[in-house]
Amino acid sequence: MKKKQREAFIPEERHETIRREIISLIERDSLSAREISGQVRISEKEVYSHLEHIQKTMSKKDHHLFITPSECLKCGFIFRKRDRIKKPGKCPVCRGELIQEPFFSIRLTI
Ligand SMILES: [Zn+2]
Repeated sequence: MKKKQREAFIPEERHETIRREIISLIERDSLSAREISGQVRISEKEVYSHLEHIQKTMSKKDHHLFITPSECLKCGFIFRKRDRIKKPGKCPVCRGELIQEPFFSIRLTI
């Protein structure tokens, strides 16, 4: 059985710093993973793994990770499934591959 080790060499402290950076960015603006990746200077893949972590930890407090869902630019289908935060590859309705990326922000939980 293969174990996930891709983050093992990065100390946890560094992850915390990056997470705080991401949180402060998306507290001000709704950003896509690509935009976050450009500002924090980590890969999009890493951005998504941090966002997943933020999603889990934030929901315990009075703020949460708000996701503006992806949208198919061809037929307008909106990907509302909440369990996936990554950009989908294909539209299930028209099979189009022109998908608007999801946007992330931090919002107050009411
Ligand atoms: Zn579509």
